[in-house]
Amino acid sequence: MSQSKTKEKRKVRFLRDHPVCCFCGGSKITETWDHVPPKACFPEGHWPETFEFPACFDCNSSTKDADQIFAYHSMLMDYDPRNLSVKDARKLHSGINNNYREALPKLNLSANEARSALRHAGISKPPGMPLKDVPVVLITTAARDSIVTTGRKLGCALYYRETGKIAPGCYGLLISWHQTQNPHMADVTQYLEQALPSFTRATRRTIKEYGNRFCYWSGETEGLFVFATRFGRGLMIWGIVAPKDRLQDYEGWGDVWPIFGSA
Ligand SMILES: [Zn+2]
Repeated sequence: MSQSKTKEKRKVRFLRDHPVCCFCGGSKITETWDHVPPKACFPEGHWPETFEFPACFDCNSSTKDADQIFAYHSMLMDYDPRNLSVKDARKLHSGINNNYREALPKLNLSANEARSALRHAGISKPPGMPLKDVPVVLITTAARDSIVTTGRKLGCALYYRETGKIAPGCYGLLISWHQTQNPHMADVTQYLEQALPSFTRATRRTIKEYGNRFCYWSGETEGLFVFATRFGRGLMIWGIVAPKDRLQDYEGWGDVWPIFGSA
């Protein structure tokens, strides 16, 4: 059987076995599958297996831009040289440059922007170095939004994967993220590193090694579904999926978002 026929058959079976979109509270039927994390985060053909999730067209298509912008930034933030794929990063850069230029990181910062970028990253200016010479980039609002969108999708997807249930519309998502290089977040990084398992790897023989690019941990405690993910060495996204009123107690930890498609 040809590869495309096998894929088509697998997709039909998938839609039958997962009839409801897992991203928008259980109100819509599955029309397609969505890869979470986005396939673009991995070199072509090397994404982790079994990370396809049932999605309606709206949930899938409304996050396509965010998938590309997120993938590019997760590569930029990864400081593990083994994960560097110049070809893939270039491809994403050129796609974003063509379609959503406002999302590209800002270079040639003004003194105020440089100060702000350093503060966000928790880094001090090296003594004696003029601000204009400090190698720092400012990630844009569009990039931050793409990280949050990916976090919300990860929350719904991992909740579905681990509990077999769809996070209902009355639930909310608390999402937080940081760069592991940020010294102000060192305690959180260390805590999450202890919880996170070794990086998830491909199991199918035909998939080549895709490097230490993604892993996750999740657990359930007192009706709260807690998860943490790591992209390569640089970026951690973590959060809680729970009834909205339960999330109020954790507001200092991150921003609270609705399930997609619900208010
Ligand atoms: Zn949906």
